[in-house]
Amino acid sequence: MMIKGGTFGPVATNTYVVFEEAGGPCLIVDPAAGSRAWVAKTLATHELAPLAVWTTHGHWDHVVEAHVWADQGIPIWAGSGDEDWLHAPAPFNPALFGNPPPTPGVEPARILRDGDQFSVGGITFTLLHTPGHSPGCFVAWDAAAGEALVGDLIFAQGIGRTDFPRSSPTAMMASLERVLRELPSQTRIYPGHGPWGVTVADAEPWARMFM
Ligand SMILES: [Zn+2]
Repeated sequence: MMIKGGTFGPVATNTYVVFEEAGGPCLIVDPAAGSRAWVAKTLATHELAPLAVWTTHGHWDHVVEAHVWADQGIPIWAGSGDEDWLHAPAPFNPALFGNPPPTPGVEPARILRDGDQFSVGGITFTLLHTPGHSPGCFVAWDAAAGEALVGDLIFAQGIGRTDFPRSSPTAMMASLERVLRELPSQTRIYPGHGPWGVTVADAEPWARMFM
């Protein structure tokens, strides 16, 4: 599996393009503000055909350019719990996001739930519902490759905030415990912010400081 990443927008959000090999299908993950040109260049460089845009959760910074790809006929997949934030990706926390202008909403073509699986070429992801940072946070785990797209659940050296509207610190702790229990320690993580490619074993001691 190839995971190309870039960091964009006012809160340094990671966008990823995931694929098995050049010339095949790919998944666009979390199209952040200002990611459009980089995603297009990545698609062109590797001759990729986007299967879908998958959003790890519905916060503005992770969904704001979903409409760019929806307008090109690419389906948007979202996790159950945050889908209304894709309909209207207005800044729910203006102080954090600096009052960005509203952007066009999208209608998710597919609402994903815990245990759902989807394939991108020969890659198979299994979804874990990991609420807390928001109700609709999901982790996409490729057990065979030992890689996981973890959104804002866990970072290389920390965890996602739980002081937002609809956050739940209690749910967050349960989600972190679950992921740290179920993902093998050598699984590499690809978070929504900060460095990627560190292992669960590397990230766990940092996460535990907040648990
Ligand atoms: Zn978030």
